[in-house]
Amino acid sequence: MLTFHRKHGQLRALAPAAAIALMTAACSSSGGQGAASSPSDSFAAPSDSGGYSSGGNPSDTASPGQGSSPGSLPGDVQQYFQTQTVPSAGADQAFGSGNTGTLTQDEAYNYLKSVLVDTDKMWTAYFESIPGGHEPDFYWDIITDGHPAQSNCYPDTQITADYNNAFFCSADSETDNGVTYNGHIVLPLDTFMKMWNGDIFSRPSQEVGDFAAAVVTAHEVAHSEWYDLQTQFNLPPINQPGQPKDKRNDLIADCGAGVWANSAYYKGYLQGDDVQIGMDALGAIGDTSASTDPHGTPQEREQAFMLGYNTGKPGACVSQYWPGVTGG
Ligand SMILES: [Zn+2]
Repeated sequence: MLTFHRKHGQLRALAPAAAIALMTAACSSSGGQGAASSPSDSFAAPSDSGGYSSGGNPSDTASPGQGSSPGSLPGDVQQYFQTQTVPSAGADQAFGSGNTGTLTQDEAYNYLKSVLVDTDKMWTAYFESIPGGHEPDFYWDIITDGHPAQSNCYPDTQITADYNNAFFCSADSETDNGVTYNGHIVLPLDTFMKMWNGDIFSRPSQEVGDFAAAVVTAHEVAHSEWYDLQTQFNLPPINQPGQPKDKRNDLIADCGAGVWANSAYYKGYLQGDDVQIGMDALGAIGDTSASTDPHGTPQEREQAFMLGYNTGKPGACVSQYWPGVTGG
């Protein structure tokens, strides 16, 4: 039996700093409690081992925008990035399992799936409004017992439900009904269920609650979205080929997760100390002195998340962690 503890109703969810003045009566929402999953969203049958977010028409590649120079975003896109926050209206599917009691696999699965759906919806609306941009795509697997997955990023590994990591692999693609989806998000369910108890990939998190799993999921989705931005606008990657791994690659994903948390706040999904829980989850998996695979220190990861959360602007993440593409 897995029990989990969820603080609720003790604190207001912290409003994004940039918009505190606008928030008066918000924050008392039930934050996704009672969010009904549709019947078709029931626990994964083998045929439901994955999901798709459709991408744009392959021929719909970005045309060079005004003022573009090689390796950087077109001027009108940079303008859009400076001004546009992510959309937060129009929520029609809250995420969330129950907040107390015993977490079941169904609840955890549906929670993660809801986060994937909601993040996808937010990023899709954002990307479709970028001048010359189009809908990003990815496909995902929430790995359940007995249904392992394969990935080109870890070709020798069978990814099982208790695999102690989550990842986005841009080298994976899958074709369904004649449509090819590029980029694969992999979320092992048993590993994620531990996050409800503050175990983030075997590292302890200070604040315990369900939003940890949401933020880690949103981090992986953000990797996918930044990869889409790179391919849609033919940008140089943050991590230059042949160079050591750049921690900004992960910090910009933390920032993207924060941007989503901002939109979740305005949809009324957050409650209690969700923001702190999400921030602590990323802090827990920050670099230690023994780390050889740089993701950023706990403090850097928390700052990156809060930059996204407080601004709600993907462009703020780009300026901070991918400055070359904005001419910075
Ligand atoms: Zn990452």
